[in-house]
Amino acid sequence: MKKIFLGPPGSGKGTYSSRISSFWKIPHISTGDLFRAHLKNQTEIGKQIKEFMNSGNLVPDTITIEMLKNRISQNDCKKGFILDGFPRTIPQAEELAKITDIDVVINLNLSNEILIKKACARRVCQDCGDIYSTIEINQGEIKMPGMFPKEEGKCDKCHGELMQRKDDNEATVKERLETFKNQTAPLIDFYKNNGLLKDIQVKYNPTKMVSEILQAIKSLAEKYELSIDYEK
Ligand code: AMP
Repeated sequence: MKKIFLGPPGSGKGTYSSRISSFWKIPHISTGDLFRAHLKNQTEIGKQIKEFMNSGNLVPDTITIEMLKNRISQNDCKKGFILDGFPRTIPQAEELAKITDIDVVINLNLSNEILIKKACARRVCQDCGDIYSTIEINQGEIKMPGMFPKEEGKCDKCHGELMQRKDDNEATVKERLETFKNQTAPLIDFYKNNGLLKDIQVKYNPTKMVSEILQAIKSLAEKYELSIDYEK
């Protein structure tokens, strides 16, 4: 099962990918996380990408595609994978199509106003990457409870320190939303045209959203007669 999560920053790609990755026991590959690891480890790639990431711009396709190809060629990806944050440009999607088939694309939708609030309230465990949210959204039909840690500033899973990402501030999130509109949104039509895309409106807590996403995957799979194992 090869799946892509498409959606603007703060829409929940990381949270849902991680839960569905545990459900299906296939790797969750976030190009953002891979890049952040390069920054943390001060690798050669880390030096090349720092300015792009800190300013909310995309890392050049050549670097991104090479890194992604290396990752999905690894053994743990043989049964499938979930891509979170890749592809983000048409050339990336075209390169991906040359090396693998994709079964389903989940396109997450949420208003920019809420996305900015959510991204600025995101906290991430610097050891295991678990994601938390310090705000509750209750706006019309959108009811998303906060995802607060049990102990302030500490990860529930591994007790690591919770941090705010450098690019999760209002100015950079606005820049990232602009980048999404100009460079990533064209992928919606790209995947819609080949019938793989399912639109999902983000509205509820992660548990309810994950069950809606799994249901959407199931209906697409039935439509295209994909063989997918739904058992845990
Ligand atoms: P994310 O964690 O997905 O929000 O990504 C954080 C940042 O990493 C983005 O704002 C980009 O600078 C960079 N990045 C992640 N994925 C890609 C990609 N597929 N193409 C280019 N840049 C990326």
